[in-house]
Amino acid sequence: MSQTIAFIGAGNMSAAIIGGLVQQGVDPKSIIASNRSTGKLEALASKYGIRITPDNREAAQADVVVLSVKPQMMKAVCQDLKPVMPHNPLIVTVAAGIDVASYEAWLGADKAIVRCMPNTPSLVGMGASGLFANANVSAAQRVSVDGIMSAVGITAWVEQESLINAVIAVSGSGPAYYFLMMESMIDAGIAQGLSRETAKALTFQTVAGAAKLAAGADVEVDELRRRVMSPGGTTEQAVQSFESDNIREIFSRAMTRCANRAVEMA
Ligand code: NAP
Repeated sequence: MSQTIAFIGAGNMSAAIIGGLVQQGVDPKSIIASNRSTGKLEALASKYGIRITPDNREAAQADVVVLSVKPQMMKAVCQDLKPVMPHNPLIVTVAAGIDVASYEAWLGADKAIVRCMPNTPSLVGMGASGLFANANVSAAQRVSVDGIMSAVGITAWVEQESLINAVIAVSGSGPAYYFLMMESMIDAGIAQGLSRETAKALTFQTVAGAAKLAAGADVEVDELRRRVMSPGGTTEQAVQSFESDNIREIFSRAMTRCANRAVEMA
């Protein structure tokens, strides 16, 4: 029989991963979710046919246990689960800002633990998750986690836990940078006479199109940029304006602050 996967906390992130797994053909009966209140569980059971329970301890009997409660709830949830996990399941946590040492302290140093940093586009299947495994995680278990998180997007492993802070600076917080850029582009388009609706539609499609082009290209991103910039043309004016306003330094400074804050919070 295939592995069983438990989700402790059946909120937005769990719902997204469960939806992705079922869509990929994982047997819904191999998935169990537990949650504090029952409404979300019933909705997941009726939508996907997964097993549900109000009891975290019952769910935690699975082969893989995905911890997906808010960070402030995590210690109490782990301490409650510790006595019922002698079967040593693979633990995957998606909570922001809690290091592996904390889970080892709460659950036991013998536990195989993967710390995962997903991002909000996971909710629409376009996530980017950074993953770090402690020394107890086997190669087969890594493949297993990869399969689970791939249900909502791409995965990238880091071999030092400190690099999770860089993952946070790039992909964890990254969606907000693009939302800010989109806000700015929409406002500037409106200032130049476009309707909000048109400015939004053109901006969203341009951001999605540029990302798709870059991800599929056999050249570097700077080359793609040069290909849009004909000498003496319109794009060159805009890019020169960004460069003279030190856009690269602006990003570097902002992302350093982001990563530093992640260090403070862990
Ligand atoms: P969420 O929608 O609030 O889900 C958390 C769930 O945990 C809620 O359904 C809550 O149930 C349940 N819960 C709370 N205490 C519990 C307990 N003691 N036992 C069982 N269930 C309990 O939050 P989320 O957005 O899915 O986030 C979950 C985790 O993912 C967080 O740690 C967050 O840092 C991480 N994360 C999320 C995103 C994202 O895009 N959403 C991105 C990166 C990381 P009730 O509704 O009954 O309170």
